[in-house]
Order: sequence, then C-alpha cells, then structure tokens
Amino acid sequence: MLRAVSGAFRGLRNSSMPLSARMSSNSADRSCALAEKVAVITGSTKGIGFAIARRLAQDGAHVVISSRKQQNVDRAVAVLQGEGLSVTGTVCHVGKAEDRERLVATALEHCGGVDFLVCVAGVNPLVGSTLGASEQVWDKILDVNVKSPALLLSQLLPHMENRGTGSVVLVSSMVAYMPIPKLGVYNISKTALLGLCKSLAVELAPKGIRVNCLVPGIIKTEFIQVVRITVFAPQHLPHGPHCRRFGEPEECAGIVAFLCSPDASYITGENIMVAGYSPKL
Ligand code: NAP
Repeated sequence: MLRAVSGAFRGLRNSSMPLSARMSSNSADRSCALAEKVAVITGSTKGIGFAIARRLAQDGAHVVISSRKQQNVDRAVAVLQGEGLSVTGTVCHVGKAEDRERLVATALEHCGGVDFLVCVAGVNPLVGSTLGASEQVWDKILDVNVKSPALLLSQLLPHMENRGTGSVVLVSSMVAYMPIPKLGVYNISKTALLGLCKSLAVELAPKGIRVNCLVPGIIKTEFIQVVRITVFAPQHLPHGPHCRRFGEPEECAGIVAFLCSPDASYITGENIMVAGYSPKL
C-alpha cells in the first residue's frame, strides 16, 4: 500500500503555482542546480542517505525518501518538510521486489518521472570471516548491496530514459579498496559495486544516463556503531596522509549533488572517495 503522502505535499501538487516556485528550498543561499528534477534515494531516512536527501532537496530537487521502516520514513519526511523542502516518502526494503515497485510507483505518481537514482541502502549482518559466512548471509548481503541497485534501476530505466539525461549514484565503501578482515562478505559486496558502476556506465551512456559511485571512508552514523568496537577505531585509519578523524554524513552529500548536477555532465564511470584519504597518495 502506498504510504500516505503528507497533506502538505498533496497540497503543493494541486497548487496552481509553477512547480519551481512551489517546491524550491527555503535556503535562499543555495543554488537551484537541481530545480525541477526528481531524485529517488534508497536507505535515506538516516545517516548518509538522509544527508544526501536533504542536500538534493536543498538544491531544488523533489526527493522521494525510502527505507524499510514506516516510522523512519514518516520521521525523515516530517523533518525535511519542516525545513520547507520538497520530499515525499514510502517504505522500500530494497531486497523486496514489491517494495521496489512501490517506490517506482510513488515517484511516478507524485513527481511524474525520475532524473536521479541514489542507491544508499546497504547491510552488513556479519562481523566474521568470509569463509565462515553462511549461504543465507551471502544471499542477504549480495541481494541488498549489489543486486537491488541493478534491479531497481532496471525498473526505473524506462522512466529515466524519457527525460533525455539522468544520473545514478551507487554507494560503495573504502573497504572495496582496503578490505577489513572481519567484514569479509561486505567488503566483497562493496567491491562488486565498483564493477557494477563501470558496467552500467558503459551500458547507459548511449541513453544519456551517467553512473558514478560514492566511496565513503568511515562516516559517523548508526551503521558503524554496530561494528565500531571490533573493526573501526581511529588507529585503524589508513597510514599515510589523511584527515585523522571520522567523516560526517553531510560530507558525503555535496559530491552526490555535484554528480547529479549539470556540472558533472561529462563524468561517468567514476568511483569517488570521500574518506579524508586517498589510496593514490
Ligand atoms: P545508517 O545510518 O545505519 O542508515 C542506513 C539507512 O538505510 C537507514 O535509513 C535504514 O533505514 C536504511 N536501510 C537499511 N537496510 C535497508 C534495506 N534493506 N532497504 C532499504 N533501506 C534500508 O547507515 P549509513 O552509515 O548511512 O550507511 C549508508 C550506506 O553507506 C550503506 O550502503 C553503507 O554500506 C555505506 N557506507 C557507510 C559507511 C560508514 O562509515 N557509515 C562507510 C562506507 C559506506 P531502515 O532501518 O528504516 O531501513
């Protein structure tokens, strides 16, 4: 069942004012580089996804927020609408086909199309060795982290193609380059996303759709609380020149706004680290 869209959003849709005037951010100092555009973001009720949702909406996009839990969707939508931003939301567990269909339907019903897909949702149910992982753990991690972005994009593609241009951003991790021993299957799933980014960039370039990959370092979110004690600590930051601190979710959002903007119109197939560090240094 479609999540009930807030009265505020419905009211805006029915207004006779132009869409750009109705939906723009209340942040007067922000550019409107993404005005009139529609962004679908998975895993966007907390952490990195929420920061990206807020930033794309501040830059003028209409944002469709989603995650597994209705209360998280409600809270995130209420917070951002309270800031005067154009957001709606629906429950979507990215591993469930019916939820992905609902997400697509919500975007089409309320926004009339899709320009950007940002695939943030990711899981790591295991802290342990790669070879100790059960088949169930392998399936869950690969389904959610690797298969679901491709399957969701395949459902959205006809609607993105119609727009002439589009941008997809996948979310990998620094562990794709520097695997952490106790995160074995997760490391592998994030490495697979680098390959997915490159393959999709090649396949979709003729359709005017660019595909890039955000590669965060250690970012302060609930996600790392779970495994922080065992695998993440400042002394585990990479050796060499880097900012010796964990990152903030907002520090991942600007690059996604850029990758969706016309300023990135000639950029595709890139994996961009936001980690206070580069393995190339
Ligand atoms: P977070 O703060 O725990 O937020 C995770 C978000 O994803 C929540 O909104 C959660 O909401 C949603 N979610 C979880 N499983 C989902 C599923 N199966 N389907 C749809 N939504 C789901 O996590 P985060 O740190 O922002 O991580 C976001 C992404 O960044 C992940 O892909 C992670 O691998 C990646 N990453 C994180 C770090 C880091 O240090 N934090 C570093 C590199 C990469 P619900 O509970 O309501 O579903």
